[in-house]
Amino acid sequence: MAFVITDPCIGTKDAACVDVCPVDCIHPRKDEPEFAQTTMLYIHPEECIDCGACVPACPVAAIYDSPESTPASQKQLVDANSVYRAGDAGAVAQAEAVVQAHIAAHADLMAVAPAERAAAHAG
Ligand code: SF4
Ligand code: SF4
Repeated sequence: MAFVITDPCIGTKDAACVDVCPVDCIHPRKDEPEFAQTTMLYIHPEECIDCGACVPACPVAAIYDSPESTPASQKQLVDANSVYRAGDAGAVAQAEAVVQAHIAAHADLMAVAPAERAAAHAG
């Protein structure tokens, strides 16, 4: 079980969650080289300790508390969180491909401003 970042992070990506995570499991950080090239941030599913600190820190409600509670429209981003590994170019590309597929499949959500997007997630 781990927390999951979803698509309101796309277009926001302010790293507010990174600053509050006690175990540094949210990547890429702003000081990591991948930060510029990634569309959103990811939570490492095995390092996350389920503390919940990142949820209120996120200004756009992008973070769900488990894969199970992640809305259907966001399920493929569970995989993006799972595969991303800092410093692994192949894993970074794989996560990014999942995100781009999500964007292509959800033009409706992408048309909604990031701050309003979580409210548009279907249950
Ligand atoms: S739930 Fe806690 S450990 Fe997991 S990503 Fe959020 S702040 Fe980090
Ligand atoms: S606080 Fe929210 S929008 Fe900002 S980087 Fe983290 S998940 Fe993305």
